[in-house]
Amino acid sequence: MKKKYHQLSINETLKTLNATSAGLPATEVEKRLAQFGKNVLAAQKNASLIEKFFNQFKNLMIIILLVAAVIALFAGDLSDAIIIFLVVVLNAVFGVFQEAKAENAINALKKMTTPSSRVKRNGKIMIVKSSELVPGDIVLLEAGEIVPADLRLLETSNLKIEEAALTGESVPVDKSAAALTEAELPLGDRYNLAYMNTNITYGTAEGIVIATGMQTEVGKIAAMLNQTKSAVTPLQKNITHLSKLLSILVLSIAALVFIIGIALNRSTILNMLLTSISLAVAAIPEGLPAIVTITLALGTQVMAKKKALIRKLPAVESLGATQIIASDKTGTLTQNKMSVEKIYRNQQLVSAKDYTVQANDPLIQAMILANDSQQTEQGLSGDPTETALIQFNLEQNFAVSDLKKTFRRQASIPFDSERKLMSVVTQDPQATEQLLFTKGALDELLQRSTQILDDGQIRSLTAADQQKILAANHQLATQALRVLAFAYTPFNLKKVQPLSSATAEQELIFVGMVGMIDPQRPEVKQAIAEAKSAGIRTLMITGDHRDTATAIAQRLEIIDPADKDGVITGHELDQLPAAELDKRIEQWSVYARVAPEHKVKIVKAWQKKGKVVAMTGDGVNDAPALKTADIGVGMGITGTEVAKNASDMILSDDNFATIIAAVREGRRVFANIQKSIQYLLSANLGEVLTLFLMTMLGWDIFAPAQILWINLVTDTFPAIALGVEKAEGDIMKRAPRESKATFFSDGVMSSILYQGLLEGGLTLGVYWIAILFPFHHSTALIHADALTMAFATLGLIQLLHAFNSKSLHGTIFTKTLFNNRTFNWSIVLASILMFATILVPAFNATFKVTTLVWQQWLVVLIGGALMLVIVELVKFGYRAAAKNK
Ligand code: ATP
Repeated sequence: MKKKYHQLSINETLKTLNATSAGLPATEVEKRLAQFGKNVLAAQKNASLIEKFFNQFKNLMIIILLVAAVIALFAGDLSDAIIIFLVVVLNAVFGVFQEAKAENAINALKKMTTPSSRVKRNGKIMIVKSSELVPGDIVLLEAGEIVPADLRLLETSNLKIEEAALTGESVPVDKSAAALTEAELPLGDRYNLAYMNTNITYGTAEGIVIATGMQTEVGKIAAMLNQTKSAVTPLQKNITHLSKLLSILVLSIAALVFIIGIALNRSTILNMLLTSISLAVAAIPEGLPAIVTITLALGTQVMAKKKALIRKLPAVESLGATQIIASDKTGTLTQNKMSVEKIYRNQQLVSAKDYTVQANDPLIQAMILANDSQQTEQGLSGDPTETALIQFNLEQNFAVSDLKKTFRRQASIPFDSERKLMSVVTQDPQATEQLLFTKGALDELLQRSTQILDDGQIRSLTAADQQKILAANHQLATQALRVLAFAYTPFNLKKVQPLSSATAEQELIFVGMVGMIDPQRPEVKQAIAEAKSAGIRTLMITGDHRDTATAIAQRLEIIDPADKDGVITGHELDQLPAAELDKRIEQWSVYARVAPEHKVKIVKAWQKKGKVVAMTGDGVNDAPALKTADIGVGMGITGTEVAKNASDMILSDDNFATIIAAVREGRRVFANIQKSIQYLLSANLGEVLTLFLMTMLGWDIFAPAQILWINLVTDTFPAIALGVEKAEGDIMKRAPRESKATFFSDGVMSSILYQGLLEGGLTLGVYWIAILFPFHHSTALIHADALTMAFATLGLIQLLHAFNSKSLHGTIFTKTLFNNRTFNWSIVLASILMFATILVPAFNATFKVTTLVWQQWLVVLIGGALMLVIVELVKFGYRAAAKNK
């Protein structure tokens, strides 16, 4: 039987895949790409335009309407039939247009986050799109990355992979390259394989691609594919549910209109049927969920332009409700551009530029050797904390690379944010043994130091030395400097095995400290102030020292200098009983010296207070906190793939100010959806009410063509245009909305009700006046005139009410009245389409209207204007009442 990949030795694997450890040549890659296809999981196919178009007719009401239209046609009512067909087709076209637009926006989001991989091809290391990997490619892996395809590991160094996506097991698995003997092992036990879409939590490795795309293990799991379905937001669900309820309500009313119409002998059965179905079609808010989706999706596009990439649609909604933003300090609030400012050595604090750099100085050696940054042609690359140390030495014209050659690196213990140290073991050029150099957080390093290098002498570290060092540290940290401490010790690599922090980072000789400045991002202070006025509290979470964190937090006005109890450290958090933490959490704005695991605790404690929390994160270990937060915010530049994958939103510039811009956008989107809903539903209510009362009162009833036309022209256009309204000026001066708020909160529901009643009342009022004071036509036309005037009034009311809807409670008489171009054009277009039915005689018969004289138009105008005036007066009253509260 053929052996499986996990049973093959490395050479056998290479042979099977017809590859070498130097990587494939370009021609071979091309060939294989053509043979195996792209390394992507097949997404669900989107419906084609034609399919989308026909999907719009899968609606029972529309089908009944079409059948009724056909009947009307045979009964000789050509005009109704034509209008019904026209409206149905136009509705379908709009539906397709909206769906396509929402889909495009969502696809664009997916494209923005395409991952890349480091591969070895033709002996060279290069970065390629992960989708272009082929079987036989040699891929380099590192903690924080996501495995881009199924791999047989060739070489591993402390590699740990979390395979929950595949096996459900959330504890990371240790991996190694050795071949396994058993053939039928569960996936989770094939330790020498790495699977596509699993998370590398620790270490590094090299592997060869054995399967790509749909041939991979995740590709084989059909259920995974359904996850590509776009997520539905809680409020979208809410609105879909509501539209269903409204549909039932409208259907009942339509049925009632039909029955009463027949009972009172108002018209022929066919006509009443057409009327009531038209009413149902017009008043059922089937477009509502689409408007919500499209507004959310368009919001994501605007956010993307502002450098906030939304990965999950619900984030747009939650952003608008954000109450707490917990932000990392380094890189998000600050620039992550470190430079060495001060140096503490031989019990003295000096300015960095006055320090004499010498090759035999263990401080300089530790700075350069306990350092993973690399000098490349493009400059220094690596962790800014480390590049700053090299930069400092280069600026002093020190031969950095010579020193590295003399002290060849033998081994290292990587930095991790738990112990906050990193060490390297190098050859000692003056001895056969080695040296260990350690750098990291002072508190950690001092605990592990027993001696001190003082003026060239190594002696015991005394309590007095410690006092002095801590005082210097405090002095540096309160100037907002990040402090790194350095130590070394003679070392024997052979004797200390296995090499680990516990075995090696002990009994060190303390040499000195460095204070580094990391300037704050210039726009951040303003953004924090804006957040504050928007009722949002900013928290700082950092691995840095308490004093450094406090100093920066004070400069950024995250805490008040007088607030002595606003800062807590990770250590103190650990000591605190859980109940105490939950009780007191609102006391602290700065969380210093925290490890990623504390972040989950912090988010949960705030959430228990009922707060909507956004939290930033970049490292692998931040993933749980990013998932726990209401809005996990990943870093586009410095973030690991794992963290990005766990987040709801990614900042493409890593900047705190971008979060605030996104919140602002989230609030705008939410407010606009409310505006659309308020407008649309009050219009529908107005229509239903008018028709219902016309039937009940024994008045003439709107013709189906009229109902459908009003609905098509004056409802749809403005409702969509309201979705792209600009933000109102005070949007960041309001408190965040309640986390349980829906689109109907904040008075939207009552506005819909009274505005709907008002629309119906005014329309019927105009009809009534027209009957009481007939103007010009023969008595035969009194009713036809009145109906035409009612039709015109309802249309006008809706067009003017669209302006009211630009602000829920604010006045519309400001300079922003015409600031939405889409809106303006939609009103112009809707007005033309609406009034051409009356003003252009050729259309009169089709729409069953008469021509009106100016006195009649005046009545219509007054009816319409009253809508505008009354709603603005109500809003005025609301504002006055709110002020007096
Ligand atoms: P945040 O990004 O959450 O604001 P941070 O980036 O400042 O936090 P860490 O990177 O975890 O937090 O750093 C915490 C501490 O670890 C620093 O104050 C510093 O003393 C030490 N440290 C940071 N980077 C290194 C490194 N490369 N080598 C050794 N020690 C380091």
